[in-house]
Amino acid sequence: MLPVVALVGRPNVGKSTLFNRLTRTRDALVADFPGLTRDRKYGRANYDGYQFIVIDTAGVHGDEEGIDAEMASQSLRAIDEADVVLFMVDARDGITSADMAIAKHLRSIGKKAYVVANKIDGIDAEAAQADFYELGLGEIYGIAAVHGRGVEQLLDKCFAPLIQDYPEMAVARSSTAGDPDDEQNGVDEPPPDLAHDEIDYDALPLKLAIVGRPNVGKSTLINRILGEERVVVFDMPGTTRDSIYIPMERDGREYILIDTAGVRRRGKIDETVEKFSVIKTLQAIDDANVVICVIDARETISDQDLNLIGFALNAGRSIVIAVNKWDGLTNDDREEIKRELDRRLGFVDFARLHFISALHGSGVGNLFESVLEAYASATQRVSTSKLTRILEMAVDEHQPPLVRGRRVKLKYAHAGGYNPPRIIIHGNQVEDLPGSYQRYLINYFRKSLGVMGTPIKVEFRESE
Ligand code: GDP
Ligand code: GDP
Repeated sequence: MLPVVALVGRPNVGKSTLFNRLTRTRDALVADFPGLTRDRKYGRANYDGYQFIVIDTAGVHGDEEGIDAEMASQSLRAIDEADVVLFMVDARDGITSADMAIAKHLRSIGKKAYVVANKIDGIDAEAAQADFYELGLGEIYGIAAVHGRGVEQLLDKCFAPLIQDYPEMAVARSSTAGDPDDEQNGVDEPPPDLAHDEIDYDALPLKLAIVGRPNVGKSTLINRILGEERVVVFDMPGTTRDSIYIPMERDGREYILIDTAGVRRRGKIDETVEKFSVIKTLQAIDDANVVICVIDARETISDQDLNLIGFALNAGRSIVIAVNKWDGLTNDDREEIKRELDRRLGFVDFARLHFISALHGSGVGNLFESVLEAYASATQRVSTSKLTRILEMAVDEHQPPLVRGRRVKLKYAHAGGYNPPRIIIHGNQVEDLPGSYQRYLINYFRKSLGVMGTPIKVEFRESE
């Protein structure tokens, strides 16, 4: 479980700038789901040794008809969902009435909020910050979201009280191929000692999350899966924000189904409670070993579908894609849908695609074969000698480019972790390796190792 951080504040104070810095993504998960406002963005942050979920709530003015009405609206739902609120203000503007209104609300709900005075670059930060004590929310944290100044101190401060409740949020700093330039890259952490990784993945229950937009058929699929099995259903106490954890057994293997659709809670559920929650979905993905992303064949594949898949990959989760409602379509429809999926799912061409009907049960059994395959791919152990051999073959077939007249040299590779697989490549001038060659290597490793359904991370280390 990861903590949730909400960025709130009036427009233009720098929320998106901070969001982009924390998540390092251009394509955030936009909550563009039916029934939800279109202006909340969700992302997975990995910054300064912390990972967490961050929500960017686009602009609360505070001067809408009655702050209460505004606060009740969807756009501030994020505050309820969050563990920590970063209340952003503009250090250059001083306090505005909108800031005051937001502060008043935050004080009234008693949730921990940190006042973040942004844009302290090039001004007298102390003097500017002093102004904001008037908000009545305690300490003021000055940052410059554009440069990252002050951000680490801010996170250290606001995460200190959370780390005990969320041990998973702390991560080693690492340099990951594909990350945009950032001060975190290039930190040379010693390779983890994998001899001590003696987890028997096959003996653990496989946590399987079923996610997708509203109405794609998640509940129907879960009922179908459960209907075929002898299962004991109970709500495990103290679990994720509303996802239900259902232990089940199938072909002698134990699973925990993570039900984001609230199947077993239906009827009891308070109708005013949003049935679909992005946070719930993101937490479920984060907590799962394998994610089944359910897509509705009768709707065109949407950005939200792609964003959910992207989020799962970002989190390093294995995925299987289930195209549901495949029943009752004409052959022409099916061809058309397949072409569209091919076109849009190119970025996850390593994930198995299943055409199923949750309603009639067709294709559901085969899903599990791919789930197991993806899990096996994510957890397989590979020796240094094998990885190095594959690296040598890749280099033989296709030499790394010359940089400033010298050839980038790749020497050896070893496993840096499992679930998802991390491969660490040592060599010279590796920071000059172009993205295209990195992708070539990732694909080469993927094919050679037969890795399906799980993202591979390749990292590069400069050797002496
Ligand atoms: P949002 O509406 O709160 O999401 O604000 P944006 O992130 O879109 O930022 C609004 C404007 O402030 C943009 O022009 C940013 O480039 C600028 N801005 C954001 N952070 C900083 C900062 O730390 N320093 C300065 N000087 N400008 C910033
Ligand atoms: P959820 O919101 O993702 O949990 O979706 P539901 O399982 O509640 O399904 C939404 C609607 O789609 C319901 O009316 C289902 O009966 C229908 N549905 C689900 N699976 C299928 C399917 O495989 N084929 C068809 N034709 N309809 C389906």
